[in-house]
Amino acid sequence: MRSLKKSNAQFRKAVTRLPLGVASNFRYWGPDKTIYVERGKGGRIWDIDGNEYIDYRLGYGPAILGYADERVDEAARKGMDVGGVFALATELEYEVACRISEMVPAAELVRFSNSGTEAVMAALRVARAFSGKDQHLIVEGGYHGIFNEVLWYSDVKAWDPKSGDPEVLPSSEGVPNLIKQLFHAVPLNDANVLEDVLRKHGDRIAAYLVEPIMGNCCGISATPEYMQAVRSLCDKYNVVLIIDEVKTGFRVAKGGVQELMGIQADLCTFAKALANGYPISVVAGREDIMRKIGDGVVHGGTFTAHSVTLAAANRTLEILAETDALANIAANGEKLREGINGILTARGIKHSFAGHPAMSGLFFNPEPPLNYREWLDSDYEFYDAMAQELHELGILVEPDSREPWFLCEAHDIDCVEETLDKFEQAVDITMQKSPRDRGKATASYAQ
Ligand code: PMP
Repeated sequence: MRSLKKSNAQFRKAVTRLPLGVASNFRYWGPDKTIYVERGKGGRIWDIDGNEYIDYRLGYGPAILGYADERVDEAARKGMDVGGVFALATELEYEVACRISEMVPAAELVRFSNSGTEAVMAALRVARAFSGKDQHLIVEGGYHGIFNEVLWYSDVKAWDPKSGDPEVLPSSEGVPNLIKQLFHAVPLNDANVLEDVLRKHGDRIAAYLVEPIMGNCCGISATPEYMQAVRSLCDKYNVVLIIDEVKTGFRVAKGGVQELMGIQADLCTFAKALANGYPISVVAGREDIMRKIGDGVVHGGTFTAHSVTLAAANRTLEILAETDALANIAANGEKLREGINGILTARGIKHSFAGHPAMSGLFFNPEPPLNYREWLDSDYEFYDAMAQELHELGILVEPDSREPWFLCEAHDIDCVEETLDKFEQAVDITMQKSPRDRGKATASYAQ
């Protein structure tokens, strides 16, 4: 058994000053399992007990090149010399905006924020202002940040399919119930349901907010046909199509999921991989829509376009645009999938993958789900138990099966081989335990 003695002691200390002993609820894995990190490098992290892990969480996706990437950190250090934020603009903003527009054709105009949450908030506000409508549409199982308008979930676990749609509940206390009048939730990949909702409520719906590869729901993916239908339905009902690329952006392709699926958003949001972990995000989109900013819509903030994060974004985007980093990540992700496939097939365990090799969802079901309702058919309890064994063996995946496995450039073939060796052990240990003795997920909501 791995020792978490120092992490446990740190937890007991930290919880006296910080709710749950951490800075984000999702980092709390219980008093005995919460990990405190000493450092990360490349595709690995070390905790304060000295345990080494190959990390497939990557901070929920940002470290696209790897932790402490020297190329990006050097640029960030130079950004520090610029001096921070001035409540004035700098020249580099234009350069980074141009890089983004070159990589993502939908990003005709660009604005910076600090977090994914802020970018999505801005996108929704701009969409409302542009369309003159108030409501928005979200997808069941989606996650778009930690603000009231999207902090809702479809309770598929308690859902009886005979009783209609799953109940939609707030993910947090303190979210005003009134917000429920502002949105509708639809299942992914059902254009008929989408059209029904738009037919009934389209004159009040400003935006359809969607992650075509659901980075918080096992990588469940929209089909390209569904996204084509979404595009034309949004046009037909004058609904702004917001593609949330906070996780897929600068990860699944240079032009993100939009390039992968041949689709163009009206507005799109980016964050995580944009600066290899430095906190910066982007709302971007069609010129006529984005020009609402400054023409009625307020957008900004003290820390936007900080000289350190902007410099890091500039260098990260340069690397992603000009090298084969993303192709190499996808190739290693594919090798990992092939190895996992071999191990599970040899044991007669039905399984499938969803998403993209750079952010892969693993299902214990022969076919990947098409939407969150179908996720219930997968043996996610086996997954959750196996995740606990992987942690013991030094492979860090999210304890909740809804979070895909993220790969970075630093996850080389040695990482892949070591992972496969340990994956095989974890599967065998989990199979040997009776369901009652298996570990349970320690995190209840992926981010
Ligand atoms: N959108 C998506 C698709 C996300 O995955 C996340 C966070 N995981 C967010 C928005 C919110 O980003 P942040 O945590 O940076 O606020």
